[in-house]
Amino acid sequence: MPIPVQTTFPDPGFLGIFGLIVLIGVGLLLPALIWAIVWGLVGSGGGAVPLPGVTLAVMEFFRPVIRRVFGALFRDPDRLDRTCIMLHNQLEFPAYAAVPVEKRVVILPQCLRHPDCPARISSTEGIMCKECGKCVICRIREIDRRIRVFISPGGTFAKRLLVSQQPAAVLGVACPNDLIQGLRATARLGIPAQGVALTKTGCVETEVDFELVKERLLACSAEVAVKSRVPIS
Ligand code: SF4
Repeated sequence: MPIPVQTTFPDPGFLGIFGLIVLIGVGLLLPALIWAIVWGLVGSGGGAVPLPGVTLAVMEFFRPVIRRVFGALFRDPDRLDRTCIMLHNQLEFPAYAAVPVEKRVVILPQCLRHPDCPARISSTEGIMCKECGKCVICRIREIDRRIRVFISPGGTFAKRLLVSQQPAAVLGVACPNDLIQGLRATARLGIPAQGVALTKTGCVETEVDFELVKERLLACSAEVAVKSRVPIS
């Protein structure tokens, strides 16, 4: 008597399908997370990162997890933001460098000012520097007088400025957390941007690497594009 051959698979049921989806999800997400952590560590140590766009997107997706890993390894909560800024700079540099220097705009944080800053605030222009010479902002303004320099009293002003002025390219200076938010905003608006993170953060008397700001501001050659990565301090 012939043995009947079963030609259909048993119905896996809801739990079976759910388990399959979980397995596929874990199979995709886990390698992506490992990729982002490994290349994030390489990048934060100054090494070259392959596929910076993919790595940046995955790092943003797993931001809370990777932030904890980096925090535990380096005891530096800003390490992830600095790495993301470096990757963003790498990606945006060609478009930024293609914009003539005189069409670029610099947005600086007000915390760079000297505590005795005599400047006044305008709702449209931000803090209007009087070039008293007491802080680094004066030197940044002298780099190239054709470049407009804004001192932002806060993040809202900076975002409003981007929309109202529609600059061709932006160099932003801020603490790592504010800077990565600003870079996301410029990316959404399609404005090529570069970011330089403060070397000393806080609410007053912060510091920035002047030479790095100058290099970013004047960068426009293929030669500079090769070293377009902002070092992580
Ligand atoms: S240089 Fe400008 S921003 Fe700096 S303290 Fe003087 S007026 Fe204020």
